[in-house]
Amino acid sequence: MCLPNSLLMLDDTKEASQTILVADDEPSYLGLIKLCLERSGYLVVTAEDGFEAIVKARSVLPALVILDVMMPGMSGLEACRIIKEDKATHDIPIIFLSARSEIDLKVYALGQGSNDYISKPFTPKELLARVHVALRLKRERDDLHKIAEEANAYAKSERNKAVTDPLTGLLNRYGLQVILGNQLAQARRYGKPVSCLMIDVDKFKVVNDTYGHPSGDAALRQVAGILKEAVRGSDVVFRYGGEEFMVLLPDTMLEGAVGLAEKIRMLTASHPFGEGQRIFFLTLSVGAAVLREGESGSDMIMRADAALYRAKALGRNRVDI
Ligand code: GH3
Ligand code: MG
Ligand code: MG
Repeated sequence: MCLPNSLLMLDDTKEASQTILVADDEPSYLGLIKLCLERSGYLVVTAEDGFEAIVKARSVLPALVILDVMMPGMSGLEACRIIKEDKATHDIPIIFLSARSEIDLKVYALGQGSNDYISKPFTPKELLARVHVALRLKRERDDLHKIAEEANAYAKSERNKAVTDPLTGLLNRYGLQVILGNQLAQARRYGKPVSCLMIDVDKFKVVNDTYGHPSGDAALRQVAGILKEAVRGSDVVFRYGGEEFMVLLPDTMLEGAVGLAEKIRMLTASHPFGEGQRIFFLTLSVGAAVLREGESGSDMIMRADAALYRAKALGRNRVDI
């Protein structure tokens, strides 16, 4: 790897003092990568095998890990698996480096949860470009998580009773207005898709009529629990109305939204509600929509609502778009 100075100057998007952990058993590579990253303003921590890499990943919590695949002792692949299994380091992006360029190995490495794979030999320009992309994606995901966390904290805080549904603890329709504004601004900023699901419990009136209103309330709390369990950390679940819920899905295309809707539909359909001798089952109808160019958040919600009504009209316990 050669390091012409002109190529070392191209890092104009770096974040101040982000730490990158680099593990490679070849000292020459390790030194060159370190130099290249340091000249671009990153702080670099090095490791010479997989074991040292997992220990340092845990203690330093770097913004990114670059792992050589073939190292003596613990390989990069094994280290990646352990880093991804550990809750503390699970979200750190990983880029593999390897002199081996077989497609099968690359596919396998990416399947281990790594974000990217760079073949040796590589140029500093390529290395830095890939480092930037990995860090940018991480930053975007962190931002989305932050919004979702803020939304949940917002729902919990005493001051925000007006936006929180007391039965389920979810944000209500007023809370949605606040969060939707944030999510859409974020999506536009990064040019990312946003989807939503409108979810209505089927024939819920029958539950109240048969098992009583308190059982109905308990079932709604359980449906809320199923929804919260099923979604990703960056998604936000709302109680939209009586037995109607809504899920906002940042960075999600329509296909992903429909996939989640199906998962939620099946999880609910197989969940036993009620207790003792009075166990009953519930189904959901779901309408999914993705935000279209030039459309407002309420336009998207209206389309998801229209899809929900189609799902009802077509027989319930189904997802429509
Ligand atoms: P559909 O499949 O068409 O949605 O039928 P449905 O019976 O679910 O729809 P409908 O709108 O006729 O009835 C909704 C029911 O949900 C009636 C209402 O009493 C009940 N419900 C709404 N909010 C609550 C609540 O907070 N607790 C309880 N227990 N029931 C509720
Ligand atoms: Mg209903
Ligand atoms: Mg309803």
